[in-house]
Amino acid sequence: MASKLKIVPLGGLGEIGKNMMSIEYGENILIIDTGIMFPENDMLGIDYIIPDFGHLLDKKHKVRGIVVTHGHEDHTGAIRHVMEEFPVPVYATALTRGLLEVKLRRGGMLDKAEIKTIQAGEQFNIGPFEIEFFHVSHSVPDGVGLGITTPAGLIVHSGDFKFDHTPVDGWPTDFAKLAEFGGRGVLALMSDSTNADRPGWTPSEAVIDPAFDNAFRQAKGRIIIGSFASLISRMAQVAEATENHNRVMSFVGTSMVENARIARKLGYLDIPDEIIVPLDQALQMKPSRVVLMCTGTQGEPSSILGRLSTGRNRQFGIQPNDTVILSSHPIPGNEEVVHRTINRLFQQGAEVIYEAIAPVHVSGHASQEEMKMMLQLVKPKHFIPIHGELRHLKQHASLAREIGVNPENIAVVENGTVIEFQNGKMSVGERVPGGYVFVDGMGVGDIGPSVMREREALARDGFVIINLCVDKKSGTLTQSPEIISRGFVFHRDSEELFEQVTEKVNDLVKRHDVDELSSRIEKDLSKFFYAETKRRPMIMVLTSRSPSTSN
Ligand SMILES: [Zn+2]
Ligand SMILES: [Zn+2]
Repeated sequence: MASKLKIVPLGGLGEIGKNMMSIEYGENILIIDTGIMFPENDMLGIDYIIPDFGHLLDKKHKVRGIVVTHGHEDHTGAIRHVMEEFPVPVYATALTRGLLEVKLRRGGMLDKAEIKTIQAGEQFNIGPFEIEFFHVSHSVPDGVGLGITTPAGLIVHSGDFKFDHTPVDGWPTDFAKLAEFGGRGVLALMSDSTNADRPGWTPSEAVIDPAFDNAFRQAKGRIIIGSFASLISRMAQVAEATENHNRVMSFVGTSMVENARIARKLGYLDIPDEIIVPLDQALQMKPSRVVLMCTGTQGEPSSILGRLSTGRNRQFGIQPNDTVILSSHPIPGNEEVVHRTINRLFQQGAEVIYEAIAPVHVSGHASQEEMKMMLQLVKPKHFIPIHGELRHLKQHASLAREIGVNPENIAVVENGTVIEFQNGKMSVGERVPGGYVFVDGMGVGDIGPSVMREREALARDGFVIINLCVDKKSGTLTQSPEIISRGFVFHRDSEELFEQVTEKVNDLVKRHDVDELSSRIEKDLSKFFYAETKRRPMIMVLTSRSPSTSN
């Protein structure tokens, strides 16, 4: 009997970000993408989140290779963590490779990594998988989708794509290849759902040029452009406007500088040397000649735009006549912080131009009509929407039904749900882990949901420390309990409350053994605080046992 083909989404299905998927046949596994996701507002102290690939850990020997479709963080960011577990060859186009190498070098892993450069149009065998890479246009150059011929049939993975007829690099999505797949017969299509709730067509990147032109013409002083460090196409557009308006530009921040350097070196970013100056030189020049390009469009407080908005940027601040252009779209969930950043930039005295008031940003992802076109070209028997929150996946599924894909052949699933193919039929299989792995300054996966809950409680309601000195022999207190609180209630206004606390603690000490004292006090005080204040501060009881002082 033939083996089953399994498609296991490990990230990016049911969320925007941390895309990762495993394709499995017999003794062979292929990994597609290794992305990260940035934490939501309520995930305190978390730097980023990587996919949970625990499912693959006992199958390490089967993993044959990793394919990375393009250079965005939500497809490349976890490469270091994945390669630590699976030291197998990585396949990527030249620019994607360059951007991956920046990450591997930072993690001290570049020497160990085996990366193979592939090109759109090429074909490569990885185990039993025959992979054809096809070009897709997106907001970073050199992106690919994959046609994967498996023993069970041909499956197509769109990567992130749009159908831009006038892309910045002049290289549109490979329609012909998609149609050719359609002619051959496609078992299953997996396609990008990010914009599934947007009707019509996504505007071409070309609409940004006139908007930049306009903003540049009106700007009196410096122009500060915020964008993602991996939006290489946007760098090219900024450079062109800079040149047309007789200015010079400077990339600000490590990731911007590094990515621009790699993209220029590899020929994906064509900027004349005269246009680029180092930051310190730009800061000495006449403001009306200067363009600065930096990160921080998601309102991250430690980013350059974030620091500029609060007047805490070390090298330079906002000055009168500065124009700030936010060439980006808030990642869902970040809207509030982004709007706060915009308000603060206005407060600092800048003119701020953002997506809502001028087309200084367009999406890199297909809208509904493009999604339908993808489906029409590929004509898949089965359809699995990928890259999106559940609402996007559902919407994409209904578009597929509209164009005639059999509803029974559409699988809307979230991370961790295994999809199986056997004898041309699809079924939804077991569920494997597919949640979050938190990465913070301390390391990977040290932070579980319980730690997150503690951090949330601390941030919301503060903490109370009860310090007890207990006599070793008699079990009585040698001095009155010391109570310290932070972030809970204003201590001076709450004298009565804390007097009651002291009384309660004294009472509990009398009634309970030292061993069970801490947990009793925590429990009782937690109830008491909630009843009195409707808040649940974290309670810590510290007990020190002193030798008896009475004799
Ligand atoms: Zn992307
Ligand atoms: Zn993406």
